[in-house]
Amino acid sequence: MSRQPDVPSSMVFLPHEGLSGLLDHLRSEGYRCLGPVVRDGAIQMEPVAHPDAFPIGFRDRQEKGTYALEDAGDARMFAFANGPQGLKPWLFSPRETLWHVARRGTALAFEPAEIDAAPLAVIGIRSCDLAAIAIQDRHFLGGARPDPAYAARRGGLFVVAVNCTHAGPTCFCVSTGDGPAARAGFDVALTELEDGFVAAAGSERGERALAGLGLAPAGGAREAAAHERVAAAGSAQTRSLPGRDLQAALLANLLHPRWEAVAGRCLSCGNCTLVCPTCFCHCEREEVSSGGASAEHYREWDSCFSEGHAFIHGLQVRPDIRSRYRQWLTHKLGGWHDQFGRSGCVGCGRCITWCPVGIDITEEAAAVCGAATP
Ligand code: SF4
Ligand code: SF4
Repeated sequence: MSRQPDVPSSMVFLPHEGLSGLLDHLRSEGYRCLGPVVRDGAIQMEPVAHPDAFPIGFRDRQEKGTYALEDAGDARMFAFANGPQGLKPWLFSPRETLWHVARRGTALAFEPAEIDAAPLAVIGIRSCDLAAIAIQDRHFLGGARPDPAYAARRGGLFVVAVNCTHAGPTCFCVSTGDGPAARAGFDVALTELEDGFVAAAGSERGERALAGLGLAPAGGAREAAAHERVAAAGSAQTRSLPGRDLQAALLANLLHPRWEAVAGRCLSCGNCTLVCPTCFCHCEREEVSSGGASAEHYREWDSCFSEGHAFIHGLQVRPDIRSRYRQWLTHKLGGWHDQFGRSGCVGCGRCITWCPVGIDITEEAAAVCGAATP
């Protein structure tokens, strides 16, 4: 397995206390700032006014079906792996009105819904989630009719990535080629040390943001420390998928007994798909006003584990959990190669942590596919 963690060039040093200057700059440019905060016992992406809101000193403990936070009492702001959600809810809303319709006499008047697309600056996004955004970009923006809501939000996004220096036991981004360092898709990338960050710009607006802070070059020792920490986060990963393209192996094993075995444990709850930063399945519904004079047409996240998602023209095409789990894995790790030229898994590990019965995608893929696949 190749391990090539890296951090970008032209690095400057941003002390911890200087991060508020970066947030001030972003706000002055019209961005609402979003960053990691502790909420409901987990680290979540929320609007932030000041870096004091970040999970300073917190560490996460993740394993199959397990997530817990501990306060280590130090000054590090980003010494944890991913929380339950990446940026997906902020770009592809869990529920969103698409249009309204109202009776006007004997006619119907349709109006598109307003799109909330205030420019957003996100601080602390990781390399796996940047890779997930690139996949969702292809899905929502790549066709003949780009999704207007996603396009509007995506166009106003400023990304401050944080290179991982702390991998969780459920992370496996090295094996998917998506981490632990951010290599593309960011405006600024930070690598955290004890007293601050080695920072580099990834775009012109990122350069402008850093230039305005009057920062000194990071220097060789800090740059080396940053490289070392990111490399260590990659080396610490113990999980992996058995290959980056499992399409042929999965399709050759559609009747493998492992599908039945995993179905015996799977609750078909859909948690894995809801936390997955690349899943985009949704359904569309109507909510009609009580008098029937108007209706709201909305979409909301759905899951290939739900019964309704497999109900097509009077026919339930995936009537059991075995076929739903198989659909998820063969699409995510197989069919996405046809759709997007790569696997749909970026190795974030969320589906392992947040599965209530601890089903592990790396174990299931290995069991179905057998030996490592090139
Ligand atoms: S399949 Fe699991 S590990 Fe892969 S991107 Fe989705 S949530 Fe993350
Ligand atoms: S694999 Fe786990 S998270 Fe996914 S549907 Fe089954 S029980 Fe729920």
